[in-house]
Amino acid sequence: MSKLGASTEHAPIEKINYKSDVKVTWCPGCGDFGVLSAVYKAFGMKGWNPKDLVIVSGIGCSSRIPYFINSYGFHGVHGRALPISVGLKVSNPRLKVVVLGGDGDGFSIGAGHFPHAVRRNPNITYIIMDNSIYGLTKGQSSPTSTYEFVTKATPYGNIEDPINPMAFALVYGASFVAKGFSGKANDLADLFVKAFDHPGFSFVNVLSPCPTFNKIDTFRYYADRLATIPEEHDVSDRVKALEIAYRSDKHYMGVYYRDFRPTLEERLAGVRSKVHMDTEEEIEDLLARFS
Ligand code: SF4
Repeated sequence: MSKLGASTEHAPIEKINYKSDVKVTWCPGCGDFGVLSAVYKAFGMKGWNPKDLVIVSGIGCSSRIPYFINSYGFHGVHGRALPISVGLKVSNPRLKVVVLGGDGDGFSIGAGHFPHAVRRNPNITYIIMDNSIYGLTKGQSSPTSTYEFVTKATPYGNIEDPINPMAFALVYGASFVAKGFSGKANDLADLFVKAFDHPGFSFVNVLSPCPTFNKIDTFRYYADRLATIPEEHDVSDRVKALEIAYRSDKHYMGVYYRDFRPTLEERLAGVRSKVHMDTEEEIEDLLARFS
């Protein structure tokens, strides 16, 4: 799917409009509007050419987002956005690959892909729009819904404990972990730029309320419970980051953790540099080693 508009063909890069001409179909008041607005702003801050940019998503309300962005897009199958993205990055490392999707897509159906994407450390950004509900299927509890959360599918309350997305990413070893809020689009755009600038797998969990089906985790609810990560926090300390992730007093926004290690693309380039199969003798030598 390509929505690259003719209007951007000769436009100076700073004038590129990242909005596609596809109508945004989310419900009025959906938190995902704030994420989309922050994404537009962050792309503008980076000045990326849409032809170098691919947006990948899975399935869910938030996963419609590739349609709304003037770039290349891949609306994948449920939970498979990460393997698609890693494949894209490996096959064309020049591409900027940004993955967006919901908490159900990322932490339930696609959860098994997360640790493996993380340990390969591809230079991609994964943004979760976390509303603690399955919105597209009309309101069932999701992996981040709280215990005893009441939905049509759990009328006596959710009997499962929620996943902690920040701890999830930190424990699996993501090299950049941050948290934002869709009600603060400017702060969110700054956070996205930090994630884009990180060389490696960057993860941003965004609290993004669903006013239609989740009447608990609302904008008003978060308004009293948001805090900024303490300035003195050492972002190279994964254990301290975990402590913040488990604090129940507030939801802490900002960068929790960051480290620098070789990316998947660099690791592959290292392997390629060792491969010498230009002549028939070199191929025979390699085959002989494994026969
Ligand atoms: Fe947004 Fe919820 Fe509507 Fe889906 S159902 S578009 S998440 S408000």
